[in-house]
Amino acid sequence: MSTQKRILSGMRSTNPRLHIGNYEGALRPWLKLQEDHKMYCMVADWHALTELQDEPQDVRKNALEVAKDFVAAGIDPSRSSVFIQSDVKEHAELSLLLGMITGVGKLERNPTYKDKTSDVTSETMISYGLLGYPVLQSADILLYKPSGVPVGKDQAPHLELTREIARSFNAKFGDVFPEFVNVIDQDESRSKVPGLDMRKMSKSYDNCIYLSDTPEQTAKRIKSAFTTPSKIAKSDPGIPEGCSVCQYLKLYSPDWEKQWDEDRRGERGCSQSKNELTELINEYFRPMRERRAALSDDDILDILKKGSDEAREFAAATMDEVRRAMRLV
Ligand code: ADP
Repeated sequence: MSTQKRILSGMRSTNPRLHIGNYEGALRPWLKLQEDHKMYCMVADWHALTELQDEPQDVRKNALEVAKDFVAAGIDPSRSSVFIQSDVKEHAELSLLLGMITGVGKLERNPTYKDKTSDVTSETMISYGLLGYPVLQSADILLYKPSGVPVGKDQAPHLELTREIARSFNAKFGDVFPEFVNVIDQDESRSKVPGLDMRKMSKSYDNCIYLSDTPEQTAKRIKSAFTTPSKIAKSDPGIPEGCSVCQYLKLYSPDWEKQWDEDRRGERGCSQSKNELTELINEYFRPMRERRAALSDDDILDILKKGSDEAREFAAATMDEVRRAMRLV
């Protein structure tokens, strides 16, 4: 087994396609980590069921597509283990056992749970799975005894609960789970990519540019992007800070500072910026789109088989320790 430091990272497959916010905020940092860590890249399909419980038929299909996006973006299956959560049943067993030492009050106070249940009516079912989400997430992480877990700044507190559960387990049953650090990408400008409407890019807002879009779809989406509302004519001054096209130029154009100045001074029109941006984005994502198009269903199934075998090997060894520590064997 590799002695490289391990990193566990995951993404829910609530949608079959990843957007450029997912790429900039999550996948791109993974690519850097992959250089000198053993990465376990998990498609969290069980977690997706907290939103897709009424459409289970989409869960597997989405998971395969998300795995394709991981590989297309540059996750290298010969180095990193790409796998689907439900293919490694150890996640369920550890989640069940950690649930025995986790207080319900703690889960009810979890900000994400409070947020997701704040506007539900008495008829809406709040699932046990939603309440227990952080316990399954803790199992996902702890099974791999990672040195670090990549996380956005705003989600860093979520990992605190995992630490508390791990410490509580270690105190009761003996040291099984080592401490891990939050791996926070320092590049703030990429941690919250705006959507085409300037809200946060999110599949739930339908304001995304997707990794797997065609060049034509990308052009169409950028045409509809929100720019400075008071900039009607080319000569009107723009406000790049509030314009989605200028925000994307900052991410993808080496000349963005000059383009922002021209926009501010009314020396360039929004359609020029949109055309330039379309070319830049299509060029940037072209190799990923080509890689994705070349990946067959059989290819991704082979990658996932190898990835889940590797993940299971590590996870099974951790579970042996856990069962022994709890005197279950
Ligand atoms: P969505 O908001 O589309 O449902 P998720 O919540 O599933 O996306 O996010 C998956 C990963 O992608 C997380 O690590 C999250 O931090 C990152 N991410 C999502 N949206 C953005 C964004 N607009 N900018 C940067 N990172 C993002």
